[in-house]
Amino acid sequence: MTIVLKIGGAEAVDPAGAIDDIVNLSLKGESLVIVHGGSTTIDENLEQMGISPRYVETPTGVVGRFTDEATMKVFTMTMAGLLNTNLVVKLQNLNVNAVGLSGVDGRLLHGPRKNSIRTIENGKKKILRGDHSGKITSVNTDLIQLLLNGGYLPVISPPMLADDGVAVNIDADRVSSSLAGFLSATLVSLTDVTGIYRDISDPKTLISYAKNPEQYAILQNAAEGFMTRKLMAATDALQSGAKEVIIASANEENPLLSALSGGGTHIYPEAIL
Ligand code: ADP
Repeated sequence: MTIVLKIGGAEAVDPAGAIDDIVNLSLKGESLVIVHGGSTTIDENLEQMGISPRYVETPTGVVGRFTDEATMKVFTMTMAGLLNTNLVVKLQNLNVNAVGLSGVDGRLLHGPRKNSIRTIENGKKKILRGDHSGKITSVNTDLIQLLLNGGYLPVISPPMLADDGVAVNIDADRVSSSLAGFLSATLVSLTDVTGIYRDISDPKTLISYAKNPEQYAILQNAAEGFMTRKLMAATDALQSGAKEVIIASANEENPLLSALSGGGTHIYPEAIL
């Protein structure tokens, strides 16, 4: 079984515990693929360079980054440069033979470019042009298998390669869900909450699993803001072949092992209509 592990990019997520689990599982020969985000660091780097991060809301209520050309440069420097390298260095120092890749390497993550996005600002619908984002429609699974068969641990970050030959922004949740779908893997998404809560302000209302469409509808009603995006990505993963999606906390002792042994919110393919 292949496990795709997504480490969240939100400020509160500290991958320290996850690193221990990654080392243990890799040394045992488990097929692991790591995907990381980095939205908070991108925003910090943008601000240091005098660029204001810009987030926009679509008419369906999904919030995402607007990535103009200047933002795209900082995005690539931060994700594929700094954060990816730092994670690979950390794993190399722990004797895990990690290999850093972005979605452009070996045409790993490829698909159509989205140039403009529909937004809603102060109740008014608008079309914003000049966005650098895309949709993943193909994944070079051969490259991943080659690395896994050679005993390497792939550490993957955005950007992706768009069909017009440009590197563009892709949400790390989308990266991990595409990989999990194309690799028929289990996706574990570690974040700053212990899963999806029925009441967003009360962790005791954690929804442990969704095994049928009725239970999935409860998840959909509960998810707000960024969690909506994560749940949509999870749905795509399950529709395209992932075995299971687990959303769980990164801030625990052994977050990956505890997610794999029942912690967090588990979503199964039967939950998706
Ligand atoms: P990451 O950056 O780790 O990928 P996100 O910030 O995208 O994580 O998503 C996690 C956030 O989703 C939580 O911090 C929380 O504020 C929000 N959220 C929205 N709805 C829910 C819910 N029903 N249960 C738990 N968290 C929720």
